[in-house]
Amino acid sequence: MSATIKKITAEAHKQKKFKNGCAWINNHYLPIEDAGVPIMDVGFSKSDCTYDVVSTWKGKFFKLDEHLDRFEENWKKLNLTPPVNKLQMKDILIECVKRSGLRDSYVEMIVTRGIPVNGERDPRKFSNRFYAYAIPYVWIVKPEDQLTGIHLAIAKQSIRIDPRSVDPKVKNFHWGDMTKALYEAYETEAETTVLPNADGYITEGPGFNIFAFSEGQLWTPESGMLEGITRRTVIEIAASEQVPVKVRNFKRDLLEKASEIFLTSTAGGIMPVSILDGKPVGKGKPGPVYQKIYSEYWAAREKPEYTEKVNY
Ligand code: PLP
Repeated sequence: MSATIKKITAEAHKQKKFKNGCAWINNHYLPIEDAGVPIMDVGFSKSDCTYDVVSTWKGKFFKLDEHLDRFEENWKKLNLTPPVNKLQMKDILIECVKRSGLRDSYVEMIVTRGIPVNGERDPRKFSNRFYAYAIPYVWIVKPEDQLTGIHLAIAKQSIRIDPRSVDPKVKNFHWGDMTKALYEAYETEAETTVLPNADGYITEGPGFNIFAFSEGQLWTPESGMLEGITRRTVIEIAASEQVPVKVRNFKRDLLEKASEIFLTSTAGGIMPVSILDGKPVGKGKPGPVYQKIYSEYWAAREKPEYTEKVNY
């Protein structure tokens, strides 16, 4: 076998091995099926960690540096020190995507407190760890359901955890409140849920921010939620389209009278809500503001100023 054919065969073999995804764990790239977290890592047992999610679309990362900047801010807030620097992280994320061969991918990075030695309890004495993986792109709302819009329930039995306990601006795995609210939503046939805080102000849902269009303006909560990169992108798109945006906290009544509601996330983009708590939102189908923002968002995902091409 010639050297070139050997190289091509080795490449093909590598691609196949990682076809469902590639993870970086403990200085090694592993097929996603073989990727596991050490059971002693308190990132797993105590949610003592932070993470971020970026994605690629048609082979291009979207706003990768913005995600890495938010990630850095967050690990610093938690007094974590990853064992690799930001540039190395970026290379690892790119390599995970490259090895998987995925063009449309969901790419997660995690910094955990790590593994305690000899029953250590002092978080300052842990060696923090870094994990990453790329898997096929994840849709919170499937593309076919985005055509009609989904049913959203406002949680009644659950509230978003208090920011004084868990800062929602630091992307975290404390999803107990959201999972509880999802079960409540399923009882009413809703597909997902949005949670108010203790004072009744709407915050966010499992993996997304929320926007409502009411009286000629787009509204999105100001506090009590993760400041999503997709949310930021929507605010930028709205400004360029002369759609006024109010970044201000609001209660359920604003959602109830909104003519349009949509959700935003790296995992799924811009996702329309056509039913709120069993009643149609506006005309009960995705509206014109949503349509505009949706198409500008997906166009932005291919523009060189926001993207970084993966050289597979
Ligand atoms: N809110 C929560 C709780 C999330 O987990 C996410 C994303 O996973 C978002 C909002 C949306 O953030 P982004 O647009 O950066 O993906």
